[in-house]
Amino acid sequence: MLESVQIKKIRKPHVRRPNAELQREINCPFPDCDRVYGQQQALNLHLQRKHATGHKTTREQSAKGLVETYAKGLRIGKDRLRELPNIPPGLVQEMIEVHSMHISPSQLRLLEEDISELNRIHAEQIQSDIMRVKQENVIEPTAV
Ligand SMILES: [Zn+2]
Repeated sequence: MLESVQIKKIRKPHVRRPNAELQREINCPFPDCDRVYGQQQALNLHLQRKHATGHKTTREQSAKGLVETYAKGLRIGKDRLRELPNIPPGLVQEMIEVHSMHISPSQLRLLEEDISELNRIHAEQIQSDIMRVKQENVIEPTAV
C-alpha cells in the first residue's frame, strides 16, 4: 500500500524520493572512468566490480572510519592502507557532511593524499588482474 502511494507521487516535482528511483545520469566518480548510469544501484554495482570499492555500506563505513582516525591527528600506515577497499573520490567529503564530522584542514589534506594513493594501488591491482586474464586467454585455446 505504502509502495503504490510513493510511486504515484514520483511525477510530482517537490517530492523526495529514494535514490534508486531517480532517473538521471550519474557519472562514475573515478576520474579515469567515463561510465554513466541512470540509477544509483547500477553505479554501486559498477563501483563494486570495476573499482573494488566493496558494498556501499562497506566503503561508507571505511571512509567514515578514516575521517575519525585522521580527525584524531593520526595517519594510517601504507601496509594498512593496502588492505582497505577502494574509496571513490568525494565519499570522504560526503561522510563529513552527512555525519557532521570535524577534521582539521591539514588532516583532511593528508587523508585525501592517502586516498589518492589508495585509488592508485587499486587501479594498479585491477590493471594487473586484467593483464593476467588476457594472458590466460591467449594461452588457452579458444573453444569456438
Ligand atoms: Zn567507473
